[in-house]
Amino acid sequence: MDFVDTGNQKRDIKSMALEELAEEMLAMGEKAFRAKQIYEWMHVKLAEDFGQMTNLAKGLREKCRERYVYTCLKQVRVQESAIDGTKKFLFGLADGNMVESVWMKYKHGNSVCISSQVGCRMGCAFCASGLDGLERNLLPSEMLEQVYAITRLTGERVSHVVVMGTGEPLDNYENVVKFIRLITDSNGLNISQRNITLSTCGLVPQMRALAGEGLQITLALSLHAATDGKRRELMPVANKYRLDELMEACAYYFERTGRRITFEYSLIAGMNDKAGDAEELAGLAGPLKCHVNLIPVNPIKERAFRPGTHNEAVRFKELLGKKGINATVRREMGRDIDGACGQLRRKARTET
Ligand code: SAH
Repeated sequence: MDFVDTGNQKRDIKSMALEELAEEMLAMGEKAFRAKQIYEWMHVKLAEDFGQMTNLAKGLREKCRERYVYTCLKQVRVQESAIDGTKKFLFGLADGNMVESVWMKYKHGNSVCISSQVGCRMGCAFCASGLDGLERNLLPSEMLEQVYAITRLTGERVSHVVVMGTGEPLDNYENVVKFIRLITDSNGLNISQRNITLSTCGLVPQMRALAGEGLQITLALSLHAATDGKRRELMPVANKYRLDELMEACAYYFERTGRRITFEYSLIAGMNDKAGDAEELAGLAGPLKCHVNLIPVNPIKERAFRPGTHNEAVRFKELLGKKGINATVRREMGRDIDGACGQLRRKARTET
């Protein structure tokens, strides 16, 4: 049960499923319906502490405070984009670590991009999140709270969640799956599974395991290169899993879930953005009927990777289109607010 090990022996109540909470209540000599009440305070009313749970007796609130950790995130900083209203939040965790989350407003609703780990150990060459390695995994409650805290702060309902912030979600598998079950629970915030996207750098065994979880989420694969050689230059994980194994895992995921995979492809000038690259990419995406998201690489100061021009990105998309591949050039949100993964947390840490 490492997901509830908060280091001080108290269990983490916000990471518990409703059934677990019901067992806890019974063990405490309380009625099972108390679990439903507490669950609703935590996951629907987004209460910030036990004190707000006014339909519980004071004694029970006191007992809960003694027994459980109540995870709430504190806003350390927020940056708002002057261009598109995107907000990037930096939150403080109970142990002094920090995570960042991004709030984006679209026509179809509000989307939150959450972090799944403090730091990351995947070490992708273009990414700021992995520069200092992995600090620790996030608990389900700490992932939920990124969405809850943003809902409280903006006063607006979140309809979509993307697990695409700092961290490799499939490297924190149990906690992330539990988070997805909690946030899509009809007794909780009840976000549609179809509105959840999980992005992975391609951990093959976990992708296969995820296919068997009975979830209807969208799986996005960070591809970034269409040959093993090039991918290895950008992503150390490519030394562990070859593209053919990865494509088989994608096919399996589609077979089991009926959900089409999305390929994420960061366009890096002179590295993976030529006509030949588009052709190779089409060769991978075609058989799987994947949608391709093209993202001009977001430059980080620690690395020399640069995006090409917007026209080049559009050309690349058209080349894919000619091969029958559906692609979009992603709108770059929050360019002016350290939008790239890990940039804000890194900046805040170097300043303090
Ligand atoms: N570890 C997961 C999720 C976090 S990264 C994954 O690899 O998918 C989310 C996405 O942002 C990934 O596609 C990642 O490759 C991409 N990314 C990271 N840094 C970037 C940058 N500087 N520019 C463009 N995309 C970047």
